[in-house]
Amino acid sequence: MQTSDYIALEEQYGAHNYHPLDVVLERGEGIWLYDTDGNKYMDCLSAYSAVNQGHCHPRLTRAMIEQAQRLTLTSRAFRNNKLGQLYQSLHHLTGYELTLPMNSGAEAVETALKVARKWGYRVKRVEPEQAEIVVCEGNFHGRTITIVGFSSEAQYREDFGPFPPGFKLIPYGDAQALEAAITPNTVAFLVEPIQGEAGVIVPPAGYLKKVRQICDRHKVLFMADEIQTGLGRTGQLFACDHEDVRPDVMIIGKALAGGFYPVSAVLSSQEVLGLFRPGDHGSTFGGNPLGAAVALEALAVLTEERLIENARELGEYFQERLAEIPSPHVKEVRGKGLLIGVELKPEAGGARRFCEALQQRGILCKETHRHVIRFAPPLVIKREEIDWALGHITDVLNME
Ligand SMILES: *Cc1c(COP(=O)(O)O)cnc(C)c1O
Repeated sequence: MQTSDYIALEEQYGAHNYHPLDVVLERGEGIWLYDTDGNKYMDCLSAYSAVNQGHCHPRLTRAMIEQAQRLTLTSRAFRNNKLGQLYQSLHHLTGYELTLPMNSGAEAVETALKVARKWGYRVKRVEPEQAEIVVCEGNFHGRTITIVGFSSEAQYREDFGPFPPGFKLIPYGDAQALEAAITPNTVAFLVEPIQGEAGVIVPPAGYLKKVRQICDRHKVLFMADEIQTGLGRTGQLFACDHEDVRPDVMIIGKALAGGFYPVSAVLSSQEVLGLFRPGDHGSTFGGNPLGAAVALEALAVLTEERLIENARELGEYFQERLAEIPSPHVKEVRGKGLLIGVELKPEAGGARRFCEALQQRGILCKETHRHVIRFAPPLVIKREEIDWALGHITDVLNME
């Protein structure tokens, strides 16, 4: 089969809910991807930050194969010998008392919403059915009906209603708006410390600190969605660490199992996650030994290979060099660590054609929100590799 045949199959037999670049990948190693024609590309998306440890990391491959040969799924009707170790490792790494494991990011967000409501009724004593959760404009928390129900993106919602009530939208990065939105029925504030899908939007310095104070003042749970920003991506374990802020509920996913397997989790305290009783919530695959074994190894790789430090150092370097590129098209370069957005001027005609030009030169990026090119390579990237990419990026940002 040829490249065009693979594309034709997808077009003919698959739902068209994505608009991918026409590159058909068949192999990955570290930061590099290879297509069916043998072309080599630097991955600057990392599957939306799910492969922070790099493609097909040998340690994760080994952990996955070994576990797959022993035991893959028990359901939570029985215990397995990997899940407890994953809980302990997450506790030691993050300090959170308890973990609740799920699979996709959206499921972990749903879990956090459920536990926030439960906490609201049981601990804060909100009247039944009255709980409110505050969220931000521009949010991206996944694709379930509840979650898209509080999206501010028209396309995410269109034709999918009716939606569950109980959510309130406020502007992102505006602490006063949060305080104004809180009522006695508010149980939680759900927020991304940097909005990834909205175009790498970094809130004003001090925002998360103020959010922490406001949530404390009004007895509201601060819930951070760090599914994309967490686990080293921004040069700290969590993006909230940049402001030394500790949310009550931490939601992680994506890189938790290094791109090998969908593993997500909600981390929180005994006071919050301890509210769940047997039967309150669950998932057939959540906490399975295969996912747990891979996640355990993925966390070990993150710390033992100093990937967080690498993201901090090289992220700063990459962002500084990007900002120095003279280009008629660039409006702003922003981000933290290795989560960088290059926003183009509206006259540039959208980021897509720049992504296609980068693809021609061996760099895979995806536009986000029409005018932003996101640069988020795996955290195992080296300085020389960034330098190589910068040459091509400079050329592309200077095309007609
Ligand atoms: C990707 C993402 C999600 C959803 O994760 P899925 O695994 O695709 O369900 C939720 N929140 C944020 C911030 C994300 O980047």
